[in-house]
Amino acid sequence: MSDMLELVGLVVDLPGPGGAVRVVDGVSFDIPPATTVGLIGESGSGKTMTANAIIGLLPDGATTGGALCWRGDDLLRVDRRRRRRVRGREIAMIFQDPLAALNPTQTIARQVGEILRRDGLDRDEVRRRVVDLLDRAGIPEPARRLNNYPHEFSGGMRQRAMIALALAGNPALLLADEPTTALDVTVQARILRLLRTIQESEGLAMLLVSHDLRVVAHVAHQVVVMYAGRVAERGPTATVLRRPAHPYTRALVDSVPAIRTRTALAHPLPGTPATPANRPAGCAFHPRCPLARERCRTEQPAVRSVAPDHWTACHFAEEIADRV
Ligand code: SF4
Repeated sequence: MSDMLELVGLVVDLPGPGGAVRVVDGVSFDIPPATTVGLIGESGSGKTMTANAIIGLLPDGATTGGALCWRGDDLLRVDRRRRRRVRGREIAMIFQDPLAALNPTQTIARQVGEILRRDGLDRDEVRRRVVDLLDRAGIPEPARRLNNYPHEFSGGMRQRAMIALALAGNPALLLADEPTTALDVTVQARILRLLRTIQESEGLAMLLVSHDLRVVAHVAHQVVVMYAGRVAERGPTATVLRRPAHPYTRALVDSVPAIRTRTALAHPLPGTPATPANRPAGCAFHPRCPLARERCRTEQPAVRSVAPDHWTACHFAEEIADRV
């Protein structure tokens, strides 16, 4: 199998006051090598929980089903030792808030060098590699920043330090969860350019989790659209954004002007997002869908192919183009 990571019917249940809540419900997609996949959806769509399941950071009490196939292993079933090796090494994560993810009591160099020290490298070699990692993450004059603490960095520089930390284990897959949401607009653009450059130059696979379609359009080769814990649509980014095959994707695209040239004005998404705890029967999108009819209220649509590499979970996808 050439796929780097394959999610097969991933399920995540979280304990709730009224019983378990299925926050990820049968999610399947793959992340091929040297490819960026954008995982997009509104709050409560299950995108962050999907990323957390991959890296093994689910909350206490969470239970899982399906499979996460990674280099011949199912990450949901490997032993603790193998999971530790995968997490932070083969798969590394860039978090939304680097201030929360970085240790405030340790210098940036100490934190970035931690993984390298575990490999038994001597002090000079660790220092040399840390400088190189900070440089690759776009931190100017990295040798002069080694003794800085996280609070001495700006928000953008902290995110760059987080990226250096993620690269320290020489990962094959980077998970980036809303990596630019906490930053101002000009810094966002620079960090996105940096992530794209690193992904391309180092041949990494990347899963970019975002609620912002513009971010995904800018960086991702493929996109997976989630709604209420399920995949609504997936396929090549250009195809999905230009010819959406799910009314939810269509509404997301229309809510952002300039994504599609024919749309001059933004149209806010109608209605309130469904949540996993309050998921409507049938198609979870039906209360908000302009194409909904009786079948949609009772029958959950299966994810099906509408073109090579283009998949949708809509009974009536073929009608969407007629409504444009
Ligand atoms: Fe809309 Fe029905 Fe398609 Fe769901 S299955 S997106 S409700 S048309």
